Amino acid sequence: MHCPFCGTQDTKVIDSRLVGDGASVRRRRECSHCRERFTTFETAELVMPRVIKTDGGREPFNEDKLRSGLLRALEKRPVSLEKMEQAVNKIKSSIRATGEREITSNFIGNLVMDNLKQIDKVAYVRFASVYRSFEDIKEFGEEIARLND
Ligand SMILES: [Zn+2]
Repeated sequence: MHCPFCGTQDTKVIDSRLVGDGASVRRRRECSHCRERFTTFETAELVMPRVIKTDGGREPFNEDKLRSGLLRALEKRPVSLEKMEQAVNKIKSSIRATGEREITSNFIGNLVMDNLKQIDKVAYVRFASVYRSFEDIKEFGEEIARLND
């Protein structure tokens, strides 16, 4: 990190402590060039990346959209809302774990499919058939056959 006083790149951490219930780290730094001291705060970035749509447009990540996609696939299936919420959270953490500022809508779609596959196979097939718009009925049949493995 550059020294805000003289701009040199060589600064060192002289003290580091957790603040705000451990949600952030406060660091005292000293410039090895001009010896000025300054403080930095480090907090986890919980902002969701932006979504790159298939047409190339960008939009903010929309949790409601994700949830309604899952709900639609799970309609009348024996899956509790709690389990569905767990899937929403799992998908969100996978998205955050990429550390990317932008992710494709395809990436989210694949995460949804992976999660649905584990929760309910019928819901998975429903989602996949709409989402992947299988090229032909044969491909769709092959996907279903694979589920029985
Ligand atoms: Zn300096």
